Amino acid sequence: MTLRDITDRIAKAENNAGRAAGAVSLIAVSKVQPDARVQAVLDEGHRIFGENKVQEAAGKWPDFRSQYDGIELHLIGPLQTNKARQAMELADYIHTLDRPKLANIIARLAQEIGRCPELFIQVNTGEEDQKAGVMPADADGFIAECRALDLPVRGLMCIPPVDEEASLHFALLAKIAARNGLEGLSMGMSSDFEKAIALGATHVRVGSAIFGERVPT
Ligand SMILES: *Cc1c(COP(=O)(O)O)cnc(C)c1O
Repeated sequence: MTLRDITDRIAKAENNAGRAAGAVSLIAVSKVQPDARVQAVLDEGHRIFGENKVQEAAGKWPDFRSQYDGIELHLIGPLQTNKARQAMELADYIHTLDRPKLANIIARLAQEIGRCPELFIQVNTGEEDQKAGVMPADADGFIAECRALDLPVRGLMCIPPVDEEASLHFALLAKIAARNGLEGLSMGMSSDFEKAIALGATHVRVGSAIFGERVPT
């Protein structure tokens, strides 16, 4: 696959779902990919990228930003509170706000730094022990808490369990977002982004289908 194949498939999925062309942002997930592959996608004109580790993002994106205009960087991995400042200085979006302690720290840092990335709240739709995210039953309360802190919450994010039908999780996330008046839905990866678009995704996070398989680390 290439970037062009994926953008074509996104356009078709938007159309099939009766959604406006361009309603969905493609986040090209570049974690662990060699710089040359990332550079090739930048050279094709793509500007929206995702990383799941703050450290790794800090190692490459300041350089890429100095070479290419208009980069939009999304952090999509679990965030430790001691990395929050660095994450906020690097990223335009953070998709993994998932607990009150982190919300409070981001709110305080936003005052200090004078800006705040756009935020998605991660919901653990599969209620999996090993996965980050607020439980579905706690989502409404946590969203209200974040809003009370004046945080720029744009939407919700989920990563469905690998062994379950992703559409059920996408539908649940969309329902929680709708009842809370949130428009952003960060959902869908290489194997299921078309299903996510059918259920309202505004941001799909696609890695291996664009860049090729990640080299195991
Ligand atoms: C790695 C990753 C992706 C991309 O996964 P692919 O299957 O390679 O498309 C999406 N979302 C998150 C949170 C990730 O960590």
